[in-house]
Amino acid sequence: MHIAVDLDNTLLNTTSACIACFDELTGITLTSADGDHYRYYEFYGWDEEMYEYVYRRHGHKIHWSSLPYPNAVAVVNQLSKKYRLTIMTARPDVFSRVTYDWLRHHRIEFNDLVFERDKFATCQTLNVDVLIDDAPHYAQEFSEKGKHFVIMDQPYNRQVEHSLIRRASGWQQVTPLLSSFASA
Ligand SMILES: [Mg+2]
Repeated sequence: MHIAVDLDNTLLNTTSACIACFDELTGITLTSADGDHYRYYEFYGWDEEMYEYVYRRHGHKIHWSSLPYPNAVAVVNQLSKKYRLTIMTARPDVFSRVTYDWLRHHRIEFNDLVFERDKFATCQTLNVDVLIDDAPHYAQEFSEKGKHFVIMDQPYNRQVEHSLIRRASGWQQVTPLLSSFASA
């Protein structure tokens, strides 16, 4: 089996790192509940364009300082011994170096690292069997097109449901969910 794993808000807590950085820049202090919103940057008075601008300027620091979720590194390393494992992120190419360095720094084992926004087409090309990701729009697309998906539970993705989507509320739940696909 070939599995693909997303980074931001799946393997590591990007929102917390963004909020720490943006609080420092703006002098505004968001609460952790604010971070439950998909567009939490609106609490700084920013639109998407402004968010993208600030993210591009400070993304290196954000990505380097982000921390893995509990058990994420251990589970991914176990999975990479058993399955082919591709890290698949929609981050811009400009952050490829810091992404690669972060993965090495945290001793995460994987076969490939790809930067792609069209994850469905990429998974088809690479013969990926299942994607593990937090984004509701990917979960919807994959399941509608007949592909298995493990959604990492986040407050902003709870409305997404489908028979091909399995929900993991933490990394410890991922291994049994994948085994159920492998034996299906
Ligand atoms: Mg993500």
